[in-house]
Parts: sequence; C-alpha cells; structure tokens
Amino acid sequence: MGSLKIENVKKAFGPVEVLKGINLDVTDGEFVVFVGPSGCGKSTLLRVIAGLEDSTSGRVVIDGQDVSVTPPAKRGIAMVFQTYALYPHLTVKNNMGLGLKQAGTPAAEIDRRIGIASSMLSLEPYLERRPAELSGGQRQRVAIGRAVVREPKLFLFDEPLSNLDAALRVNTRLEIAQLHRRLKATMIYVTHDQVEAMTLADKIVVLNAGRIEQIGGPMELYNSPANEFVAGFIGSPK
Ligand code: ADP
Ligand code: MG
Repeated sequence: MGSLKIENVKKAFGPVEVLKGINLDVTDGEFVVFVGPSGCGKSTLLRVIAGLEDSTSGRVVIDGQDVSVTPPAKRGIAMVFQTYALYPHLTVKNNMGLGLKQAGTPAAEIDRRIGIASSMLSLEPYLERRPAELSGGQRQRVAIGRAVVREPKLFLFDEPLSNLDAALRVNTRLEIAQLHRRLKATMIYVTHDQVEAMTLADKIVVLNAGRIEQIGGPMELYNSPANEFVAGFIGSPK
C-alpha cells in the first residue's frame, strides 16, 4: 500500500515557476529516484508530495486518495533529510518514538517498533545516547529509524547521504537498499549523484529546470537517453 500519482503539479514562488507541470506514476513498492542538477526543483517536488509545500496547481494522489490539501502528518509519509533534523535534547530512542507518541500510539507498541527498527539499523547500542554522542552515519541511521517506526506508505529521502564522507555514503546507501528489500515499501529518493541513482533505482526521473526530461529504468536511460541532457547527466556516450 503506497502508490503515488502526481498530476500536472506546478509550483511558483512569486513570479518564478519552479515546477512546470509534473506528471508521474509510482507503483506500490517501487524505488524511484529523482535526479537533476542543483536548483532544478527536486526538493520542492518532494516537499509538495510531503505536504510541506502547497502546489500552485495540480494534484497529489496517494493510494487513490487526493491528498492535495491533507496536512503532512495525515499523508502516511515519512521524510528523511540531508541534515538529519534530530532533537538534540532527546535520546535516540525518544527521537525515534516522538512522532508516534504525539500521534497517541501506546507505549508498548512504540517500544515494539523501535526494537524492530533499531535492530534493522544496528542502533541497539545507541538507544540511550543523544545525537551529539553519535557519528554522522549513526545520526542518519536514527533519522531513517524514525521514519521506519512510523510505518509510512511512502518514504521520502532528500539527499540523505550528502553530509557523509565517501565510505559512509556507500554503507548507508547499501543499508537503504536493504531496507527497501525488507520492508517492500515505496521509496522516493532525491539525489544529484548519478551513481546513487543508477544503483538504487527501479525507476529514475530526470528533472531539469522544473520539467521531467525522461522517466525510465537505469539501463533504459543509460542505453537510450531521450536527449542530450539525459545523455550528459547519466553519462552515456552518445
Ligand atoms: P533542488 O532540490 O533540485 O536543488 P529546489 O527544489 O530546492 O532545487 O529549488 C528549486 C528552485 O526553487 C531554486 O531556484 C530555489 O532557489 C527555488 N526555491 C526553493 N524554495 C524556495 C522558497 N521557499 N522561496 C523561493 N524560492 C525557492
Ligand atoms: Mg534539494
């Protein structure tokens, strides 16, 4: 349960149109990667899906329901940011459980879900620590764990590896791929890194200046880029 339909979504900030009519279908369980250069509208599109930003026009449909005016907390999504966005004064455990607690989930159920997520992400030894006592990679795993415990229909990742060094980036990328296989959840992942896109995606969406240039599987884009922009971006010799 986690399909997504984006219908002719446009977004302007004042006079500047940042999303110029986006149409996209994501099926349940798919891993979809948005790639494109800095400033092309990747984060804005993700924020519109999450409800953190209203679109100027168009519709966002999750599992057949128009959520265009549904508040973020009611959309069944969980988002992971580049900057982790953890509460410094809360322990790992409480960072992971806070959203559930606020939603009125019983304590025993919160503990059960934290147990599963912390085991999946190898976070058990750190549950009583605070974010300042963790490495960058551990902090990002906590932010991912916080998303997992919410059991969302849709996971949204906005450049989750950008603040990590090269070795950790590979590790964390593999963990996200493993999580996707285990949870069979729908994941939408933003990056400007071609390697991340090629290795993680079932389907890649290439964005450029607020428009979709091409949608396709990694090998499809590599072998048959629709135009020079896609060819240049995916790195196929054309
Ligand atoms: P990306 O994530 O692909 O780097 P963004 O979606 O963050 O791109 O931004 C797309 C464009 O929209 C950029 O030109 C950016 O400056 C602009 N933008 C993003 N958020 C705002 C905002 N809140 N107000 C005004 N302009 C914005
Ligand atoms: Mg961005």
